[in-house]
Amino acid sequence: MKLILLGPPGAGKGTQAEMLIDRLKIPQISTGDMLRTAVKEGTPTGLKAKALIENGDLVPDEIIIRIVSERLARDDCKNGFILDGVPRTLAQAEALDEQGVEIDFALSLEVPDEIILNRVVDRRLCSNCPMTYHLVSQPPAKEGMCDVCAQPLVVRKDDDPVTTQHRLAAYHELTEPLKAYYASQVKLILVDGNCTIEETTDEILRLLGMKKT
Ligand code: AMP
Repeated sequence: MKLILLGPPGAGKGTQAEMLIDRLKIPQISTGDMLRTAVKEGTPTGLKAKALIENGDLVPDEIIIRIVSERLARDDCKNGFILDGVPRTLAQAEALDEQGVEIDFALSLEVPDEIILNRVVDRRLCSNCPMTYHLVSQPPAKEGMCDVCAQPLVVRKDDDPVTTQHRLAAYHELTEPLKAYYASQVKLILVDGNCTIEETTDEILRLLGMKKT
């Protein structure tokens, strides 16, 4: 199964990808996570991406296309993958097609902007590993600590309200048109992302023709 998760920032793409990788036994490929790791490690890609990410701007297509194609070439992607947060522009979607990456479905998590703005305020990220939490819908077992590696949780710099508005604007301008792109390939599936995590996962599995866990 080769899936794309589309949707605005904070729609739950990462959370749903985590739920689905367990079930489908395929890797999650999150360009956001890859870029945050590159920033933390101070690699040339990280140095180029840091300010753009913090300002809520998109990282240039050529960087994204390169890191994704390198990642997709790895062995664990042979049986499928979930692209989380990529493609985000038409150029990125076309590059995947040109590289012969045959996507089965593009799932678009539909969440209204006003809900997104409320959600991201309570989002927390592990300072050490890629785990994400939400203080209301997905809280850590111990306040302020990652369940997986026991390191402190932090607020993502780009989750402040002003930057989130900017990211939403970028989503509507550059990413939302991908719904029409995948609809024209008969691959688009709209998913109501404005319910609980479990309800959304069940809905995705139902739409993919799979049984609930
Ligand atoms: P995310 O974790 O998916 O919300 O991504 C965090 C940030 O990383 C975004 O706001 C962008 O600055 C950058 N980023 C992640 N994926 C992409 C992409 N496919 N294209 C351009 N920029 C991206």
